[in-house]
Amino acid sequence: NKTNESLMQRRHAAVARGVGQIHPIFAQRAENATVWDVEGRQYIDFAGGIAVLNTGHRHPKVMDAVRRQLDQFTHTCFQVLAYEPYVELCERLNAMVPGDFEKKTLLVTTGSEAVENAVKIARAATGRAGVICFTGGYHGRTMMTLSMTGKVNPYAAGMGLMPGGVYRAQYPCPIHGVSEDDSIASIERVFKNDAEPRDIAAIVIEPVQGEGGFYAASPAFMQRLRELCDLHGILLVADEVQTGAGRTGTFFAMEQMGVAPDLTTFAKSIAGGFPVAGVCGRAEVMDAIAPGGLGGTYAGNPLACAAALAVIDVFEEENLLARSRKIGELISGRLSEIASEDKRIADVRGLGAMVACELFTNDGHPHAELTARIVAAAREKGLILLSCGQYGNVIRILVPLTATDVEVQQGMDILSACFREQD
Ligand code: PMP
Repeated sequence: NKTNESLMQRRHAAVARGVGQIHPIFAQRAENATVWDVEGRQYIDFAGGIAVLNTGHRHPKVMDAVRRQLDQFTHTCFQVLAYEPYVELCERLNAMVPGDFEKKTLLVTTGSEAVENAVKIARAATGRAGVICFTGGYHGRTMMTLSMTGKVNPYAAGMGLMPGGVYRAQYPCPIHGVSEDDSIASIERVFKNDAEPRDIAAIVIEPVQGEGGFYAASPAFMQRLRELCDLHGILLVADEVQTGAGRTGTFFAMEQMGVAPDLTTFAKSIAGGFPVAGVCGRAEVMDAIAPGGLGGTYAGNPLACAAALAVIDVFEEENLLARSRKIGELISGRLSEIASEDKRIADVRGLGAMVACELFTNDGHPHAELTARIVAAAREKGLILLSCGQYGNVIRILVPLTATDVEVQQGMDILSACFREQD
């Protein structure tokens, strides 16, 4: 019989060391918000494969749609022989992505690729090469996105310098001493010290930082960014890879910001566990690249397109945006209760169901060690959690929006017990 330990040994011998693994567990089966490992142990899944399972594991409607597509064809390459699900997904996203203007969409496979392509499109549309990104931001592990990702270790460590033309502004984050004014000033500093505005193609921002620690930008701040972009002819790119597909209570987080980005990247939960991602935005910007300049062999895979169309249907049929807000309130409420008895929780925050708590030591330093202990202790009790944050001291919750109140409460009971037991 296979055990987690025996599989771990084979993994260490066969898989490159650079591929991390948060939990020493091998999955056997999963259903909605529950995962079973190869030893038959059951877990509540508050990680959702890192924000991919807003509609849960194996949503029946997603499975049916994929099965139907599986029986027709699985691959033609859209650039060779096109197919309707790709076009239909673009049509639906053009209508859903924020922005009161004509839109077009490109499909690719991963979030990193989506961000790469947003930069390519912004460069072609503006004739400029510079990009402004933010401290603590995460945009991927490809070469360009590693430049854009605002955390060197472990992502780019040991690999030498990444591509140039990326300038770093400060993400607004009051709990770590960065106000919105500081953030805007840091962009002005880039213009003064590093690159003229007319050399900047895009400002790329996560409306709520994901890997960086679940810090949300305010609508007022987004509006200032929008003004700054308009003033200088810079494109505003919202990276909604983690915030998108309903996690924040609206389908895209930018719907809550009062301004629209020129380009939006999406991935992860958009296809409920199947690999599709993309860029959607202003039609004239999206069309800046000539035929042949965009795409990829697997880009917009038919199975993944079918899954994404089903995910969008499920959101409507099951009213999952309202559910996202409800789950967000439930989790924030429970976390606030825990925090009222545990001073190490310095902050509870969230937008919709994108909720996290941040841990500090008694003398006010980020408490990564406790965070790691809580994540491990929760696993022992049957709850899969993820941490995040520049300092690794944030516990984030990415439970499926299709989880029942009982499942969410059970998960929160475990988390609560872990805080009581870990001193
Ligand atoms: N952007 C954001 C905001 C992300 O959270 C991630 C993944 N964590 C990515 C881009 C990269 O996506 P992928 O891992 O699919 O390449």
